[in-house]
Amino acid sequence: MLDWNDPLKKGDDQPSHHVGTHPDTAQMMPASYDDGLIHEPGQHFDPNAAEAADQTGLGGIEANAGRVDVSEKRIINATADVNQLLPLKYQWAWEKYLAGCNNHWMPTEVSMQADIALWKSRDGLTEDERNMVMRNLGFFATAESLVANNIVLAVYEQVTNPECRQYLLRQAFEEAVHTHTFQYIVDSLGLAEGELFNMYREVPSITAKDSWALKYTQDLSEGTFNTSTHEGAQNFLRDLVAFYVVFEGMWFYTGFAQILSLGRRNKMTGIAEQYQYIMRDESIHLNFGIDLINQIKIENPELWGEAFQHEVHEMLREACELEIDYARDTIPNGLLGLNAEMCEEYMHFITNRRCSQIGLAELYPGATNPFPWMSEVVDLKKEKNFFETRVTDYQTGGALTW
Ligand code: FE
Ligand code: MN
Repeated sequence: MLDWNDPLKKGDDQPSHHVGTHPDTAQMMPASYDDGLIHEPGQHFDPNAAEAADQTGLGGIEANAGRVDVSEKRIINATADVNQLLPLKYQWAWEKYLAGCNNHWMPTEVSMQADIALWKSRDGLTEDERNMVMRNLGFFATAESLVANNIVLAVYEQVTNPECRQYLLRQAFEEAVHTHTFQYIVDSLGLAEGELFNMYREVPSITAKDSWALKYTQDLSEGTFNTSTHEGAQNFLRDLVAFYVVFEGMWFYTGFAQILSLGRRNKMTGIAEQYQYIMRDESIHLNFGIDLINQIKIENPELWGEAFQHEVHEMLREACELEIDYARDTIPNGLLGLNAEMCEEYMHFITNRRCSQIGLAELYPGATNPFPWMSEVVDLKKEKNFFETRVTDYQTGGALTW
């Protein structure tokens, strides 16, 4: 417990080195590192040791150290001060931060009146449609929290670049907005909250996906984890693939397609509109992750060897299969304009795109998009033209067109 009479004194149950990723951080840091004073080099602070500790940004201040040289900025294992945003090195990260801010929206801005009327009417929706909506919401309700936890508790600490961290902070907030969306939907429609939020522990196809992804964060959450070794850096890359490419880049898309398919038939249009906003956010999350992975590959080519590429390929194949199982679970009998085979073909198509985005060969050559309306409306348009998209496309609270 914090001692209010002596806030610098830590209780026995309080680890004094919880700020660092490095096992030796405790020795590097003076006990009073957080006293807000600038430590003179040589006093009780070793500037050589500071270099490694400063990757968190929480290390002691190296008084009178030189100004940031942009060439020393790196995505992982940077030696440049992580607390200084400028000079920028990665314009793409800053642009995504600005685009995210311009996309600001809140779920409560979307009217749920039509959805409530339809959901409560006796024959507005078929049983199959209701089940699909529930399992769809059930996956997303906790998926956003898993993604948020990975960003905040695993990724952020390892990214040693301030403009990327700036984006991660924005993304973390967006994940909170997405989780809020599911709270708002449950509240509006009067859904069984325990059933919906517990689905990731009750529905095997959802458990399978979430457990698959979580195993890639588990290494990173070890207190001793860092990216200074080849193995550590590769584990970090695996985590980025699992969460950015697979979770946000593949597994969200079946759900988007299902709900937007209902929306196109004028059903659950409030949820469909919220999913469009989420999808707009997610396409930037995905693109940020792709840029992050590709930049790490450029800066550390030795990490992206043939064996590792093969491994990533297999990750995407497994993830695609897990998603196909989930799709079957959500629409076992098919619905108007939508069935499990179409979801399977769509996932093959999406998996191919993700492969090419990270420089791998397509896993399902010849797969086509059974939902061309998805790419016309949001997917391809936003992803492909991302860099040409002007800020006017991202007005806060701007209306979406179908
Ligand atoms: Fe999200
Ligand atoms: Mn996301």
